[in-house]
Amino acid sequence: MRFDVITLFPNLCEGYLGDSILKRAIDQKLISINFWQLRDFSDDAKHHKVDDTPYGGGAGMVIRPQPLWNAITEVKKHNQGPVIYLTPQGPVLTQKQAVELSTGPKELILLCGRYEGIDQRIRETLIDREISIGEYVLTGGELPALILIDTISRLIPGVVGDEESVAEDSFSKKLQGKREYPHYTRPAEFNNMKVPDVLLSGNHAEIEKWRTERLS
Ligand code: SAM
Repeated sequence: MRFDVITLFPNLCEGYLGDSILKRAIDQKLISINFWQLRDFSDDAKHHKVDDTPYGGGAGMVIRPQPLWNAITEVKKHNQGPVIYLTPQGPVLTQKQAVELSTGPKELILLCGRYEGIDQRIRETLIDREISIGEYVLTGGELPALILIDTISRLIPGVVGDEESVAEDSFSKKLQGKREYPHYTRPAEFNNMKVPDVLLSGNHAEIEKWRTERLS
């Protein structure tokens, strides 16, 4: 799966992608992530300015259509996937959508907004899909883009070592779309708190029943 991320702050993303499961997935070429600096596409040769004040007045700045148009047009030459704009105004991301995205086109272009967001004309012409990661507002689209990359990537075969564990996570078909049951590990007793007897019984049918009853 190839992700191309258009952002004003590529450095914000590097730490998260430079460690653990996603780093391994990148090293193993199961996923690739390319960053495009939006400022590089600004026609403002001196200051590389990408924002301007909103028509109609009001607080904040809006990302101008020109750098967005040039950036998206250029990135589309390298990535034929849909252009997804991360915005709190989009439909909220669900596991079902993550599964759909992980099994759909093998290329995605992610656009991270900043300030008040992007010029509406770009939303209407070059954006194929909008996704929100929740009903709250962040300073920029970089964390939402990382969340989207993370949730899609872990569904790609080989990214998470134990594929069975992914198939049995919260919201999976196996768990009937519900939230997962509680987990315990050694020791069997910790600070006077005991692991439920059934989990130590070795009776797989009873364990399955106990777990199913605790799906929520
Ligand atoms: N003025 C916008 C509004 O009220 O809907 C909020 C803009 S927000 C400060 C700046 C950028 O952060 C957005 O353009 C978007 O890319 C990103 N962002 C913030 N919250 C988000 C969320 N919940 N989901 C996805 N992206 C978000």
